[in-house]
Amino acid sequence: MVCKKCIESPVIKLLAKNDHIGVAVSGGKDSTTLLYLLNKLVKSRKDMKLTAIAIDEGIKGYRDVSLDFLKNFCNKNSIELKIFSYEANFGKPLDSILDANKNIIPCSICGVFRRYLLNKNSKELGFTKLATGHNMDDESQTILMNYFRNNINISARLGPITGVINSKNFIKRIKPLYFLTEKEVTTYSYIMGFMDNYMECPHNSQSYRGHIRDMINDFESKYPGTKHGIITSFLEILPLLKANVDYNKDLKSCSVCGEPSSKDVCQACNYAETIVNKMK
Ligand code: SF4
Repeated sequence: MVCKKCIESPVIKLLAKNDHIGVAVSGGKDSTTLLYLLNKLVKSRKDMKLTAIAIDEGIKGYRDVSLDFLKNFCNKNSIELKIFSYEANFGKPLDSILDANKNIIPCSICGVFRRYLLNKNSKELGFTKLATGHNMDDESQTILMNYFRNNINISARLGPITGVINSKNFIKRIKPLYFLTEKEVTTYSYIMGFMDNYMECPHNSQSYRGHIRDMINDFESKYPGTKHGIITSFLEILPLLKANVDYNKDLKSCSVCGEPSSKDVCQACNYAETIVNKMK
């Protein structure tokens, strides 16, 4: 249930006339639910457009399966789907990068490459907003991860509609499933048949996020309402964060690719140069 204060808040007015919504999809339960619901909404309107965008990391036995499902789903629902791969853009699939670099934590490089490709290609495709399937569980994990790592500047960019500045270099992210728990989305997805081929990324449990997720789930089972409490208390302080954090301080454009970066060279170009190019 969304409270009146949240409904009236400018941070959760997600859609507007003439929006071209990109929907970031993986073929998983959250993003397929999001795509299905947003498509239902957008196709009834003449003043909005929707395109699905997926990233192929190159994880054999996992991403190829989910992308096959996604292609069929988009075909059946007449949704345009654009796919961008690590191999085409960085020269190697994730499987090969990890095989050759055993010391790398998979999600650290994978997350950087995915965010890079989503932002870059969303701009090129003319999206006004990029919708993601993040739910209450994802967001409560991110909030705690930022606290634990003292990344308060990054927390200022969270919320149902992300970003703190209007920049042509950043495509704003919106999270329509923000107030739904993972359990609720999973139940809907199961009933709708979106989970028939569902599987988790084999690298999921190795991540820092995986540890935080287990901890919050443990708390939620002992103290129901924990996730909701994390989200609602965070939304109370979010306007203060946005007003007080100097988020422009480190914002630059990468000297190699021009994408937003806090350093002279963005992390994606840095990984591409120091890890992937060395394999060639
Ligand atoms: S769990 Fe990690 S490795 Fe797997 S797709 Fe997500 S970010 Fe990439």
